[in-house]
Amino acid sequence: MKTTKKATTIKKYTSRAELIGQLTRWHAKCGVAIRQAECVELFKEICARLKKTNGKKVPMAALVQEYKLNDTELFLLLFLATSQVLRVITPSTCKVTALLESAQTFASSKEVLETLFDGKSVLFSKKILVLSGGILDIKKNPLLTPPPSKPRPAIRRTFSAQRVLAELNKYVIGQENAKKQLVAGVFEHLTKCAIKPDMTFTKNNIFISGPTGCGKTYLCQSLARILKLPFVHADASQYTQTGYVGMSVGNILQPLHSLANDKKLPLSIVFIDEIDKLHEGGERWGVASSNVQAELLRMIEGQYFTTEDPITHKNIDLDVSRVIFVVGGAFENLQVKHADKSVGFTQGNGVRKEALSADDYIGYGMLPEFIGRFSYFVQLNPLEKEDLRRILLNPYNGPISQYEKLLHRSTSLRPEQVEEMVNQAYERRLGARGLQQQVGQLFQEQFLHQTVKV
Ligand code: ADP
Repeated sequence: MKTTKKATTIKKYTSRAELIGQLTRWHAKCGVAIRQAECVELFKEICARLKKTNGKKVPMAALVQEYKLNDTELFLLLFLATSQVLRVITPSTCKVTALLESAQTFASSKEVLETLFDGKSVLFSKKILVLSGGILDIKKNPLLTPPPSKPRPAIRRTFSAQRVLAELNKYVIGQENAKKQLVAGVFEHLTKCAIKPDMTFTKNNIFISGPTGCGKTYLCQSLARILKLPFVHADASQYTQTGYVGMSVGNILQPLHSLANDKKLPLSIVFIDEIDKLHEGGERWGVASSNVQAELLRMIEGQYFTTEDPITHKNIDLDVSRVIFVVGGAFENLQVKHADKSVGFTQGNGVRKEALSADDYIGYGMLPEFIGRFSYFVQLNPLEKEDLRRILLNPYNGPISQYEKLLHRSTSLRPEQVEEMVNQAYERRLGARGLQQQVGQLFQEQFLHQTVKV
């Protein structure tokens, strides 16, 4: 099969997901009638795009290049490979049997048999394809096997906690204690990693609480950015126990898989938000929230975490010892009973008078064994009007400066406009999010005069 005329305009694949997506469409088109013109055209396009694809991203392309597969060989390999990929990624919805049957029908056609059995077929001589019991099978699936990864050279950087804190102060307004505690917790972890890179040490996980919009996520995200660490944000309420409907807890770590060095996840910060939604007594998809807490505990406490590989569905042991786990929640209705009064986050914009303790979180419905895995309890305060004013006008990524950069123009707000925004945000009790909404409205119209080249 010759390369199509369209080849010059055809783009390469940028990910395996894209290739698999197109292959799935191709399968849907050809079904049993492999030789339909439409199906052949699409197949030609796939071949052309594969030839252009960077071998690192799609192993199939490397195979095609290395063994100079002819079109018939490639056609067959693609067919079998995708049948297997689809069997793995869509076990119940795809008619894999039909695909395999059609692949075998194709494989037994005269043209293909001649290619395969005249002794010249690369697929057979290199043992890429095997024939056992009359069934054609691929030894190694070229769409699922990543190319052998070279060990990444470790990049070492030097950070001083005080400098990091100073940089963090530029971005995160207020929350002085919280910033110090978080930096201390992260630097304890970094010190352990630096001194004993190959030894296990007690993890110091971090627990953050504070009202919505006061900077829990922003604090962790900013710290990760300053330290140039990968950052993962997950919503605890979206996960369920392994084996149940919904996303299993192991999926939280998925973004780090590609950065892993031999299943050792990189030094990184994983922030698991909305942890308060997992209080005891709660339920989602028929799974008790406390079971999800127990599963999370398994992930944050040890050196290894066994989880299912989302693509191959095989169990893998991930080394999570270098991952810093931070869990956070608003604990909106948390009331701490003290001798004389109750204090909590939801009492108007009331300032909390006492620090919350591990017992308070246990009383809220967090499992004692889960809370027992945290050595840092960081508490953020509700934002006061002065904090909101400083956030609004902050030249370092404040809401106004973000829009100014976006629109390449500067804005000057009248003092009464600033006060109005601050007061409204304060009343709405959405923290700094309340500011973003208002600033967004202020700039909305200016986008109607934008010209953008995408
Ligand atoms: P939450 O506490 O609910 O996780 P976020 O961290 O997501 O709140 O805050 C929402 C947005 O508000 C952030 O992206 C940030 O722009 C802004 N923000 C919140 N708190 C602060 C703060 N203390 N200093 C500066 N910006 C803040």
